[in-house]
Amino acid sequence: MSWSRTLVPDAWAPAITALDPEALARQGFRGLIVDLDNTLTGWNKHVAAPAVEAWLRRAETAGLRVCILSNNGATRVRAFAEAVALPSVAHANKPRRGGFRRALALLGTTADETAVIGDQVWTDVLGARRMGLYAVLVQPLAPREFFGTRSLRWLERRWVARLKRRGLGLPFGA
Ligand SMILES: [Mg+2]
Repeated sequence: MSWSRTLVPDAWAPAITALDPEALARQGFRGLIVDLDNTLTGWNKHVAAPAVEAWLRRAETAGLRVCILSNNGATRVRAFAEAVALPSVAHANKPRRGGFRRALALLGTTADETAVIGDQVWTDVLGARRMGLYAVLVQPLAPREFFGTRSLRWLERRWVARLKRRGLGLPFGA
């Protein structure tokens, strides 16, 4: 796989709540590794919106196990994860593989039955693809971020626009 192929998600969605957990389960998935910031909650928000929490419960009812995988610190990640009663891995160092391996161990699922859902190409998608995991890219929930993330976003928007122009990465369910 060339390095650029590892930056192409398997699927797109406007938000995690736009995904159909029952359809993911029918596709053969048993586990979801989900990013925290801008995927489950907006920047600096400490609790899940009711619609997001309802979606997580729906995923579990569909037979999917969910683990939060975040590059953010343990205090924030654990507080959020405990409030929605999910396992989590903080300081994940995505796109490095160690955090993904820990998340798979917590889920008890294999790579081919686990999907990654996240809003960043250079951490979530790249890490997932390097691990052989199915990668779903979602649109970020909130635009307020640290400067470092912001400059990466500029690159990311250009990359995503280029992929869409080339017809790479189909909208989820299309
Ligand atoms: Mg994120």
